[in-house]
Amino acid sequence: MIPVTKPYLPPQNEYISLVNEIWKRNWITNNGPLVNKLELDIKEYLGLKHFLYVTNGTIAIQMAYKLLGLSGKIITTPFSYVATTSSAVWEGLEPVFCDIDPKTFNVNPDSIEEKITKEISGILVTHVFGNPCDIEKIERIAKKHNLKIIYDASHCFGVMYKGKSVYQYGDISTASFHATKLFHTIEGGGIITQSSELTRELAEARNFGHDGFDKFGRVGINGKNSEFHAAMGLTVLNHFEAILSTRKEQFNYYVEKLRGLEVTFQKLNENVEYNYGYFPVVFSSEKQLLKSKEMLEDNGVYCRRYFYPSLNKLSYVKEQECNMAESLASRILCLPLYHELAKEEQDYIARLLLRAQNN
Ligand SMILES: *Cc1c(COP(=O)(O)O)cnc(C)c1O
Repeated sequence: MIPVTKPYLPPQNEYISLVNEIWKRNWITNNGPLVNKLELDIKEYLGLKHFLYVTNGTIAIQMAYKLLGLSGKIITTPFSYVATTSSAVWEGLEPVFCDIDPKTFNVNPDSIEEKITKEISGILVTHVFGNPCDIEKIERIAKKHNLKIIYDASHCFGVMYKGKSVYQYGDISTASFHATKLFHTIEGGGIITQSSELTRELAEARNFGHDGFDKFGRVGINGKNSEFHAAMGLTVLNHFEAILSTRKEQFNYYVEKLRGLEVTFQKLNENVEYNYGYFPVVFSSEKQLLKSKEMLEDNGVYCRRYFYPSLNKLSYVKEQECNMAESLASRILCLPLYHELAKEEQDYIARLLLRAQNN
């Protein structure tokens, strides 16, 4: 069986040696030394000024909405994971969907401006599969209309844009370190901003709003993460360069092997240093996708329709049309991609796809 993804597990002894330290200290959560070290190491590795480690990528988005004071309606993308939209609705915000560019899979900035009204308070868009959005254009529009920008950068650990981490763009960028992501801490997430003041406020909000031992200066939530999660993160981080270079090889190997296949690939931003987190292929029709998926499954290969469905189709949002996103969501399949995936397995997957096409 070949699954679509497998979490990366680092050498067990490296994790255990950090766990042994936790046992000695008897300090297992509440901003412990490993959480601190993970934050410092991530800042250093990615060249970030500020970085807050939180419970998961979804709470990172919710805290971003809250601390930027968004209300009413927000502009967002229909082509993302459900958490992008569900977190907004959870916070009482109404999503207004802008259609995407079917080549880059990211929001089409030209469709943003058409949707701006007085009720719009901010923009939350996703760098889909780690491919940076049209950052300059989005910034220009946001500035003109005085809107805050949040980037859902869940897929972007290690992604560089114009020579710096893509996490450094927007008023806030959020990260997910869920087990299926390229860099993970089992569960976990991150919040990145360029502002020291906002970072301080977010840090308080992450810890129930404490701004002193017995003082609560603001409303907060529990967005903390534990020493055990940080220990996994520190261990995985030590191997991240190897993960990244293996991923790049596997990615390029797929491109080579799938040459005869009638599919298209994501068009990457020309200013990106990519992290090769996913391998999406786009079929010419949903029928072709289903045929290929069935062929793979009959032979023990499990892919994922990701992202599917288009988020404007969710039952709890107002009906809106997004033709490009709906069309893409119906035709896109993410092929298996994980650290241990062998070349022979990629050969096998490529053969099955070609067979499905020529059947
Ligand atoms: C994984 C993911 C999330 C959610 O992150 P969690 O850490 O699982 O809460 C949000 N948005 C996108 C685009 C994701 O891929």
